[in-house]
Amino acid sequence: MKEPRITVIKGDITQMAVDAIVNAANSSLLGGGGVDGAIHRAAGPELLKACALIGGCPTGEARMTPAFRLEATYVIHTVGPVWHGGSNGEPELLASCYASSLKLAMTHGCMTIAFPAISTGVYHYPKDQAASIACNAVKQFLAANSLPDKVIFVCYDDENTSHYKAII
Ligand code: ADP
Repeated sequence: MKEPRITVIKGDITQMAVDAIVNAANSSLLGGGGVDGAIHRAAGPELLKACALIGGCPTGEARMTPAFRLEATYVIHTVGPVWHGGSNGEPELLASCYASSLKLAMTHGCMTIAFPAISTGVYHYPKDQAASIACNAVKQFLAANSLPDKVIFVCYDDENTSHYKAII
């Protein structure tokens, strides 16, 4: 049987040995808390220097750097929307984070990519809605493209893990 292209695990994205891990960054790309803080700590100070050279990233877009001391090869930094009630373009912007990240990964020949649950931490996107947007955006991209071959949703908490497992 053919292996599924999308999987869900509970874990720490900094430990993933994949071609690219995605960072839920803020628009300055100059570091923050949550998954962004964990990625910068694990990658080492070179990552912040590489991000500073990029000079920021608008919400819904993505930028790529090397992953330095991480097992992964690249870090794709994408900026999720802050939740302001859902009628300020949040769903489109969140979907665009996934599509932009996948496009960058494809352009760089990445076979495997791992995503955190973008915007579901300090940006307060409702976790169930964010999970279905993430799944739909990834499924749509994979249906049209052969790269990346594998997408792993890395959930950090039980709530996200069960939302993703329910809809994948
Ligand atoms: P945002 O600002 O986009 O909301 P956060 O980093 O605050 O970003 O949270 C995004 C998600 O990342 C949250 O669901 C949080 O639980 C999760 N998270 C935090 N640390 C890690 C980690 N080391 N690996 C994977 N996911 C993580």
